[in-house]
Amino acid sequence: MTFTIGIDSGSTTTKGILLEGNAIVRRFLCPTSFRPADSIREAWEALRDGLEEKPFLTLTGYGRQLVDFADKQVTEISCHGLGARLLLPEVRTVIDIGGQDSKVIQLDERGNLTDFLMNDKCAAGTGRFLDVISRTLGTTVEALDAITDGIAPHPLTSMCTVFAESEVISLRSAGVAPEAILAGVINAMARRSGHFISRLTTQGPLLFTGGVSHCVRFRAMLSEHLKMTVHTHDDAQFAGAIGAALIGQRQWAR
Ligand code: ADP
Repeated sequence: MTFTIGIDSGSTTTKGILLEGNAIVRRFLCPTSFRPADSIREAWEALRDGLEEKPFLTLTGYGRQLVDFADKQVTEISCHGLGARLLLPEVRTVIDIGGQDSKVIQLDERGNLTDFLMNDKCAAGTGRFLDVISRTLGTTVEALDAITDGIAPHPLTSMCTVFAESEVISLRSAGVAPEAILAGVINAMARRSGHFISRLTTQGPLLFTGGVSHCVRFRAMLSEHLKMTVHTHDDAQFAGAIGAALIGQRQWAR
């Protein structure tokens, strides 16, 4: 067994994992800095701290080309599929909703990638959309579950981040409760993600990854729209980094 490190340099957060075999030994997460290479360096130093030998480092995510000390760079799609399999071995579909993109990945029963779709053109349907609307209403994404618990969603007509922001402001001035607006925003986004996933022939089990998977209400609404169970995992935001570290383990085993 050896140690390997995977770092996922995301648009919003930088995630890192230290693996020994298939076991997660350390996790690292920080907001991606103005200079994403600085966050990669910070993750690398924190994860390898105290280790005698230099671990094999695999980078993924949008900032993966920004430093020159990695042993390997791999696309996010391959890493997410692999990472998802470690979290839920029988997974067949992965939906990843991060800060500025969302992707759906299809795997066969052996874990081989069979198809994928990526949306990185538009903030609607991403964590950024939730961030903007939460901030407009004076709260944060971390508080969404507590705020919207048991609240019926108010319908929202616009899914464009810019128009939705002004619609939310108009709804507030018309006296609609902020809790109902937020539940409506989550519902509209979950419906949109459901349509996105359905563009591929969705087979279960389905694993929800990325930062937005922390939102329990989102997961429940997504499950309602898809009419299927939506699984997640405490380490779901690390799926890309886990996959990257696993690629290092495979390389070492050869
Ligand atoms: P990226 O890889 O694109 O940097 P991540 O998968 O790390 O993205 O996810 C970051 C996003 O997750 C942020 O936009 C943030 O709004 C969202 N997020 C984090 N925690 C929560 C939460 N509890 N509820 C909803 N969204 C969340």
